[in-house]
Amino acid sequence: MTHTARSFRLHDELAQITAKVADRVELQIAGLVEHAGESWPLSVLSMGSADPQAPAVAFVGGVHGLERIGSEVVLAFLRSLVARMDWDTSLQALLDRVHLLFMPAVNPVGLARMTRSNGRGVDLMRNAPHDASGKVPFLIGGQRYSAHLPWYRGAAGEAMEIESSTLCQMVREHLFGRPLAIAIDCHSGFGLRDRIWFPYARHHQPAPHLAEAFALRHLFNESYPQHSFYIMEPQSLIYSTHGDLWDHLYDEHLGTQNGIFLPFTLEMGSWTWVQKNPRQLFSLFGHFNPMLPHRLERVLRRHLTLFTFLIQAAAAAPRWCPTADIRRQYQQAALQRWYPAQAQNT
Ligand SMILES: [Zn+2]
Repeated sequence: MTHTARSFRLHDELAQITAKVADRVELQIAGLVEHAGESWPLSVLSMGSADPQAPAVAFVGGVHGLERIGSEVVLAFLRSLVARMDWDTSLQALLDRVHLLFMPAVNPVGLARMTRSNGRGVDLMRNAPHDASGKVPFLIGGQRYSAHLPWYRGAAGEAMEIESSTLCQMVREHLFGRPLAIAIDCHSGFGLRDRIWFPYARHHQPAPHLAEAFALRHLFNESYPQHSFYIMEPQSLIYSTHGDLWDHLYDEHLGTQNGIFLPFTLEMGSWTWVQKNPRQLFSLFGHFNPMLPHRLERVLRRHLTLFTFLIQAAAAAPRWCPTADIRRQYQQAALQRWYPAQAQNT
């Protein structure tokens, strides 16, 4: 069914992209954002293994509405998967073993209005209830002064925004309780290089799954040396923030003591696009998104290998996840790389 309201444009696009495999995917509206008299669907797509013990991977985009490229890389990957589902027997075998979740437009109102925050002025990636434990950069780390300033967290004690709580609920339903789950949340706007961040954003302590993150990084770099353009690191090495949703979910998952959950944030380095096309400087949208068609194509293509790799790695976890006897070595190597002061103390 197609809708006429512009607020359903993305949902309709998802239905169109997956039309020819509609029997193999589940497209649902997980929530509705009310804004300016319209209802904006929070669309979620899942596919692959229905076994609750299968590993899972989530592809997330559009948390910050201004960073439209995050949504577009997820949609480009989805299109590629759908096109291959009919003929690619290796992909079919993979989908028999892995569960996939797509939430390409977490902040539909922000995407439509080209704002970082949602329609209520809240920065969803600062919206989880916890505070950072150390100092955070002024404003950018999250603030409760005003919804009219950027990086607004929402009022203290208030429930999370519907966009944030729906994302969290989808991650719980589709990713928790499995031996291994990976999430990749696509953003843009920081620096020259593509970065892959993992918890923590809220403090400078190593995440308990540093060894697994390090092993996955090693596996990718060995398997795809031509893709060594990613810098992978804990987010707090760059800056800390209040209310990071992936910190929130990661800690909640730790409490379940069930399996491994590795949430990553892909921060596509957008400054190169500005450097190569200085006219973008005059457009706020241009700071966060490639504007020339050939550059957009290149960015969409650039991350397909990583995304496919994450699914393959999830399916093959016992082959690369460090076992108890060698886990300490991985942990030490990871500490030396990312937390050298702590590595010396252990
Ligand atoms: Zn962002």
